[in-house]
Amino acid sequence: MTAQTPPTCIACGGPTRLYIEEIWDDRYGSPGKFSIRKCDRCSQMVTSPMLAETDLPALYSRYYPRREVDLDAIRKEADAVLLEGAAEKRQREGTDNQGHYLVKPGQRVLDIGCGSCVSLLEVRNLGAESWGIETDPNVRAIADHFGLTVHIGSIHDNPFPGVDFDLIVLNQVIEHVPDPIALLKLVRGRLRPGGKVVLAFPNAGSLNKRVSRRQWINWHIPYHLHHYNKRSFALIARQAGYRVASARTITPNVWTMLQLRAFGDVTAEGQASTAWTGAGPSIPKDASFAMRWKNRFATRATGLAHGLIGPINRVADRLGMGDSLLVELVRE
Ligand SMILES: [Zn+2]
Repeated sequence: MTAQTPPTCIACGGPTRLYIEEIWDDRYGSPGKFSIRKCDRCSQMVTSPMLAETDLPALYSRYYPRREVDLDAIRKEADAVLLEGAAEKRQREGTDNQGHYLVKPGQRVLDIGCGSCVSLLEVRNLGAESWGIETDPNVRAIADHFGLTVHIGSIHDNPFPGVDFDLIVLNQVIEHVPDPIALLKLVRGRLRPGGKVVLAFPNAGSLNKRVSRRQWINWHIPYHLHHYNKRSFALIARQAGYRVASARTITPNVWTMLQLRAFGDVTAEGQASTAWTGAGPSIPKDASFAMRWKNRFATRATGLAHGLIGPINRVADRLGMGDSLLVELVRE
């Protein structure tokens, strides 16, 4: 694997220093030890070594969980957007954290990293036209089934030539990209006059990150290459020719549930976490008494905290300290 970590901060050019030493893939158990470097000036962070673009396909196909393709479930999930009270439910659960929900009827939307195509179907259900880009070739069959226009590849391939968009969304994508400024510049060229780009990504300036420290679930090493905060992301957007029209946090309650479970989980390098497979925190046979107790406590706490998570997240979001940023960009 190739180290390509930029020597200085990509947001402001400032010096970076070691922030977290010895961190590894505590979700899926891919091998390797990494560190996180933090900018002295703007607190932008970067995973080090940062994997090269050429390493990523092998890493994702080997370790990243393949989406289970259940076409009925996809349709059902997308149709729920039309149910009465759907917007209120999203607000309560913090699932409003995705850019495509800002669509207006009649608009043209491009979803970069559209995954299972649920968002594209939701956009269609909401009366707009949707296009998608996705690297996972498994998505081809889903798109064809639902009659959706999806390019398998990347925006660098210049898909859908001649089509420009009112809204371009990147939901949980920009943190996986080696060169976010290059990507944002390309995206900018595909906007219609007055169009906007909406990005959702983890907030490395969140309250949860401060509390969880090295156990923060959104380090997601080594898949997350850059770790943004509100201020550093605005600097990056400016370099790509945008200004920030709005930035707020919306934290999915399920993220917090997973964070609580991750606290109780014990992983070593190369070991997958069962908090991400639904089997409950793993307790190794040789775990200490304290570690066993911690695991049991985390499992109980997750159950007890279920009713508290929503209200706490909504307060954190009101303060702009939640775990997921939603940023709207317009051309400068
Ligand atoms: Zn910086």
